[in-house]
Amino acid sequence: MKISRREFTEIGCKVIIGAVTGIVIIISLFKNNIAAANLNEENYDWNKHYWGFVVDSYKCIGCGRCAYACKLENHVPFDEPWYRTWVERYRIKKDGEINIDSPNGGVDGFNDDIPAEDIKKAFYVPKLCNH
Ligand code: SF4
Repeated sequence: MKISRREFTEIGCKVIIGAVTGIVIIISLFKNNIAAANLNEENYDWNKHYWGFVVDSYKCIGCGRCAYACKLENHVPFDEPWYRTWVERYRIKKDGEINIDSPNGGVDGFNDDIPAEDIKKAFYVPKLCNH
């Protein structure tokens, strides 16, 4: 089989790029495994990490799990109406009436107190503290 210098160079470049990419992926996986193995309560320093919570609000279904998790993680009392994260529901009825509610901050989800056929548009807005 005879190949030109150009073809040889192309194949060589592809092999080198593929090998470098593979090595980078393997090293990254190895580092993440070490980091995960070292993650326990005794040597975990909360001050060295910044966590964020990113939500595509168009996809929010109002399940309230973010509000629940926030209370749990941040020790916000469950028996008090205090929230760092809560979820609001906006419903625009066909007669033009606008209904906005957030029962218990959305922690327990939402009930269906307005018949679906009376609603023109509805959506949820998670209010995340990002602390
Ligand atoms: S309520 Fe919170 S957890 Fe549930 S879908 Fe919306 S943003 Fe996500």
